[in-house]
Amino acid sequence: MLIVMSYIATQAEIENVVKAVQDMGYRAEPIPGGERTAIGVLGNEGYVDDTVIRDLPGVQEVIHVSKPYKLCSRAFHPPSSVIDVCGVKIGEGYRPIVAAGPCAVEGEEQIIKTALAVKAAGADLLRGGAFKPRTGPHTFQGLREEGLRLLALARAESGLPIVTEVMSPEHVEHVSQCADLLQVGARNMQNFDLLKELGRGRKPVLLKRGMSATIEEFLSAAEYILIGGNPNVILCERGIRTFETATRNTLDLSVVPLIRELSHLPIMVDPSHATGKRSLVPPMAKAALVAGAQGILVEVHPEPEKALSDGPQSLTLQGFATLMSDINKLNVFLGF
Ligand code: PEP
Ligand code: MN
Repeated sequence: MLIVMSYIATQAEIENVVKAVQDMGYRAEPIPGGERTAIGVLGNEGYVDDTVIRDLPGVQEVIHVSKPYKLCSRAFHPPSSVIDVCGVKIGEGYRPIVAAGPCAVEGEEQIIKTALAVKAAGADLLRGGAFKPRTGPHTFQGLREEGLRLLALARAESGLPIVTEVMSPEHVEHVSQCADLLQVGARNMQNFDLLKELGRGRKPVLLKRGMSATIEEFLSAAEYILIGGNPNVILCERGIRTFETATRNTLDLSVVPLIRELSHLPIMVDPSHATGKRSLVPPMAKAALVAGAQGILVEVHPEPEKALSDGPQSLTLQGFATLMSDINKLNVFLGF
């Protein structure tokens, strides 16, 4: 960290800042310049909390050299992490995985039919929400307990591991009994109590990017889980909110190679929520894989026109089978 003093800062103010840094347990190295003095902070291992420094008299600016996240950074942990979800390996060196299924579990016939179809088409995981984070309270909120029971049934019938969302810390233990991969939705990316609770377990977590989250905020959210002791985190880009309204969100594909530079954690892409439009899902799914995504999350419904949530962005069973056949060809090109 570098503390830039104002050009009118007095010697006493500089000494006061030096003392404050030392009181925090670090070394302070004043660097006198032509116009002003800067004070280098030394001896820190990673990010320094600047709360007690930045408002001290004479301080003009605090410049951070270290990132606010450490455990999830590639600088701290150079080898890429591979996350194992019931034998399905997600990460560098492995064929990108496909998680597919309805936005929400709506009933036994719907989830079993979808599970068997996506399995036959080559999916690796079955997705389906039981606890749904809906924007409005007048819409379908998910089957909750009954949804979890149906997911367990679909798992038994299809053999596919389950990814499903958990919305609150109190539900983590319960949802973990059914889920093989716990999803944290975009709306809960900064539910810090939830992240802390997930950090206490070892169940793999699929952390979706908040709709207005910067990469630094996204990785800081992952840091909450890692710092609690759970290293099994997979990141998921699902589109961000921009001025554009023609698509539901704007798919920020450049984060795929960027996250692979900044972090050792695997990164997946959800082209369904990113676009909101069925016809855009296959091209964006393929683009994500070319960009280096280590998996995709796709919504699929046997009758999208009757879906209780996210029908317009859900692929039909046939549409998904076609996408899978394209992905298989693409994977050969990508070396998998
Ligand atoms: C979902 O996966 O169904 C979902 C609600 O996604 P997001 O949190 O990205 O909106
Ligand atoms: Mn959805």
